[in-house]
Amino acid sequence: MNKETEICIVGGGPSGLFLGLLLAKNGIRVTVLESQTSFNRKFRGEVLQPRFVRLMKELNLEQRLEKYEHIKLFNAEIWNNKKYITQIDYEKEMPEGPYAIKIKQSVLLTFLYDLAKDYSNFELIFNAKVTSTIKSANRTVGVNALVDGQMTAIHASLVVGADGQCPRLGRQAIFLLSIKKKILI
Ligand SMILES: Cc1cc2nc3c(=O)[nH]c(=O)nc-3n(C[C@H](O)[C@H](O)[C@H](O)COP(=O)(O)OP(=O)(O)OC[C@H]3O[C@@H](n4cnc5c(N)ncnc54)[C@H](O)[C@@H]3O)c2cc1C
Repeated sequence: MNKETEICIVGGGPSGLFLGLLLAKNGIRVTVLESQTSFNRKFRGEVLQPRFVRLMKELNLEQRLEKYEHIKLFNAEIWNNKKYITQIDYEKEMPEGPYAIKIKQSVLLTFLYDLAKDYSNFELIFNAKVTSTIKSANRTVGVNALVDGQMTAIHASLVVGADGQCPRLGRQAIFLLSIKKKILI
């Protein structure tokens, strides 16, 4: 099977989905390939720092996020080896993003996906495990993926490796380094 897209993102974690959302918002046809069958994950941490809140405000997404299960943390205590070090008062020290958020990663991913799927040019494919990149004239022009067990070639103008902390694809693919935050927002 063959498929065409403009930008193919490998990995539907926070990085891949957020980038996919921003690209889709800018009218780019984007396909995110995620090897898992759902957003359920092993524990991956649950606290997003105030700069994330600030970003949500900048993107006018704060109210949409409010609808998803989370807890606002207005201050934090820092401990080291059971010894209290200090306290951070987010409201006082970071008024532009005055709290951190405790949110399950599966809920965060659902939030990002719900936003992204408002755009018809966005597509997320679960159960799509990328196995290799497709090269032409020494350039990455797509990926091969097992989608629901069927080998599929996905051709794209650009492939982005967002496949996690030990990215395998990243070693093979071209990274999207030149996207300017200003354009995307
Ligand atoms: C125990 C733990 C606690 C953490 N606590 C926090 C915290 O409190 N706050 C915080 O902000 N961060 C925390 N983190 C870090 C946070 O989880 C990561 O920064 C974040 O998940 C990175 O997102 P990512 O999208 O870059 O990668 P990932 O979340 O790793 O997502 C990569 C995605 O790519 C998919 N993938 C991989 N290979 C392929 C392939 N070949 N084909 C298709 N898909 C593929 C994976 O299934 C995955 O969904 C924690 C991490 C861990 C492990």
